[in-house]
Amino acid sequence: MYSFTYTRAKSLAEARAMLAKDHDAKLLSGGMTLIPTLKQRLASPSQLIDISRLAELRGIADKGDCVEIGAATRHVETSRSDVVRQKIPALAHLASQIGDPQVRNRGTMGGSVANNDPVADYPAAVLGLGAIVKTSQREIAADNFFKGMFETALEAGEIVTGFSYPVPKRAAYAKFPHPVSGYAMAGSFVADTGAGIRVAIVGAGPGVFRWKEAEAALSKSFSVAALKGLAMPSAGLSNDLHATAEYRANLVEVMTRRAVASLTGEK
Ligand SMILES: Cc1cc2nc3c(=O)[nH]c(=O)nc-3n(C[C@H](O)[C@H](O)[C@H](O)COP(=O)(O)OP(=O)(O)OC[C@H]3O[C@@H](n4cnc5c(N)ncnc54)[C@H](O)[C@@H]3O)c2cc1C
Repeated sequence: MYSFTYTRAKSLAEARAMLAKDHDAKLLSGGMTLIPTLKQRLASPSQLIDISRLAELRGIADKGDCVEIGAATRHVETSRSDVVRQKIPALAHLASQIGDPQVRNRGTMGGSVANNDPVADYPAAVLGLGAIVKTSQREIAADNFFKGMFETALEAGEIVTGFSYPVPKRAAYAKFPHPVSGYAMAGSFVADTGAGIRVAIVGAGPGVFRWKEAEAALSKSFSVAALKGLAMPSAGLSNDLHATAEYRANLVEVMTRRAVASLTGEK
């Protein structure tokens, strides 16, 4: 590790001011990605600004037709929340599938979504549900937030403060986890929302994306049968030591069918 200073921010305003003054500073939330990066000397921030305990960034609130979740809310809190389990069980299920208990006890939704790892799970829920990402400066619709591998619409000094998830009529998440890390080799979040059917895919490509052909098919008939004959093109999908692009394309199809089947009761 390179040396750096550590400060626990007392408020969001203080964290913003510190970031504005020092462009080499980095936010620390759960530390599940950032700390290993520092240990491997892949980053050398001047200081870490710890926002993980800010009350302004924590908590889960039932707002009727949406559920609001603070950026520093840990995965375990999302997975066990009565509000999330009742209003968006697919999101609670997704959170319960992340990594292992240690990761779920430290990792946060804001850190995961800001990091936008292509194999992370939360981006599937954010895009699949058409959530709003709230930041220290503005509100960003999910469709405009994710820009590609580890890239988002966040600007320098901008802090994710929370998320607003519209409550869907029904939704499900199915993932094929990497057997070691638990990260998604492919994950499909299928949501029947007030704004139509949305299908968001993670793990398979260089970033989360919507599978528009599956959305169109499911809009005509919300059933596994409607997906029959629909093929996910392998072009552009990830091809690495873990899996070929063709294998990942097949996983996307299978995970999407599984997500729909869990909602319709089809085999
Ligand atoms: C062994 C292991 C297994 C894992 N398995 C999975 C898995 O199966 N699925 C999955 O989805 N994830 C998995 N993860 C990742 C985990 O979910 C972390 O939560 C996630 O990588 C980052 O969240 P964090 O809160 O730890 O963020 P940090 O590591 O603290 O920060 C990550 C990055 O985001 C920035 N950041 C943090 N908070 C904010 C904010 N509020 N606004 C703007 N920028 C911010 C930081 O500056 C940093 O650049 C795994 C991690 C490990 C170590």
